[in-house]
Amino acid sequence: MNEPSKPCDHVGCNCQVPVSRDYCSESCRMAAESQNMGGACECGHAACQQRP
Ligand SMILES: [Zn+2]
Ligand SMILES: [Zn+2]
Repeated sequence: MNEPSKPCDHVGCNCQVPVSRDYCSESCRMAAESQNMGGACECGHAACQQRP
């Protein structure tokens, strides 16, 4: 059974999360709440490890 997913609410994060959650990690939650929009995502998930 596949749970529906959506993008993490942290701008700049590439992760998919279950619709019941807002963020993929505490790191994203804190980054979003502190308005830290410019920096790279620090959640540590594979989708966000790519560096330019
Ligand atoms: Zn991320
Ligand atoms: Zn995230």
